[in-house]
Amino acid sequence: MSKGTILSGMRPTGRLHIGHLSVLDNWVKLQEEYNCFFMVADWHALTTSFEDTSKIKENTRDMVIDWLSAGLDPGKSAIFVQSHVHQHAELHLVFSMLTPISWLERCPTFKDQVQQLGEQGKDINTYGFLGYPLLQAADILIYKANAVPVGEDQLPHLEMTREVARRYNFMYDTKLFPEPQPILAKVSLLPGTDGRKMSKSYNNDIAIGASSEEIQTKVRSMITDPARVRKNDPGNPEVCVVYTFQKIYNPAETGEIAAECRQGAIGCVACKKKLAEKMDAVMAPYRERREALMANPGRVDEILAAGDEKASAAAAKTMAEVRNVLGF
Ligand code: SF4
Repeated sequence: MSKGTILSGMRPTGRLHIGHLSVLDNWVKLQEEYNCFFMVADWHALTTSFEDTSKIKENTRDMVIDWLSAGLDPGKSAIFVQSHVHQHAELHLVFSMLTPISWLERCPTFKDQVQQLGEQGKDINTYGFLGYPLLQAADILIYKANAVPVGEDQLPHLEMTREVARRYNFMYDTKLFPEPQPILAKVSLLPGTDGRKMSKSYNNDIAIGASSEEIQTKVRSMITDPARVRKNDPGNPEVCVVYTFQKIYNPAETGEIAAECRQGAIGCVACKKKLAEKMDAVMAPYRERREALMANPGRVDEILAAGDEKASAAAAKTMAEVRNVLGF
């Protein structure tokens, strides 16, 4: 029996990297237990990138192909595009009428991000950016989701959704909206090939379903123990990016590799070769599913159309109730 309804989503940033797999693996598990809505958050993409919208459509497709390659099942979950379900925007407007500005201004990420992006020359001091936690509240509550998978850093946003639900229910004397609970997901932080945070913009990422050649090139470029100059120098695996990846992709040999590294009995070239082989084997099924979808673009359109339809039906039902409560 379903434990309830879940809403989760991502902004359309194009092809995803293997650092996103911990979130996607969690989604794949959740779809066995919950009625899931997985949303491409294209309206949210506008909050920080409103000047250039040229890549949103292409990025949407690329990202959805990665979701499907990772195992999201359109037979179980609605996979849809936020802006295709107009009720998200409609409910956002209703919430924006009844939410005090002070709630939004005290949101911890707001000032930080305005300042951070301001330093990069981006002005996001906009009405839309201030209000994006309300759009998130609308995204969740339009499906009456009772649970949302979140990382610790997103808890304040979910709390805002709960407050908005409470305020609406209290103000109009209704029990229409649930107060969704967090499902705290364990997110394993994979470093990029250079040891910094993995990110496409640093070019230190490895794409989901990367080709064998791409994997080899990226693994060859990984940072190792900088104190190790010659092949026979004893190394310290704990400061090595390759070793962090070995622990995930080659757990059976991790102990042996660490011991050999410390004794100077394995060279970094051989160590990287082992890792590339293991990663290639793990990535093969993702790659196959990705290639099949790329060869059949109509299938992705069908999946998104079916997802839009399922999401729209649920959202229309809630929005009719919202209007009814308001007496519209
Ligand atoms: S042998 Fe392996 S674990 Fe040791 S420093 Fe080289 S790449 Fe890293």
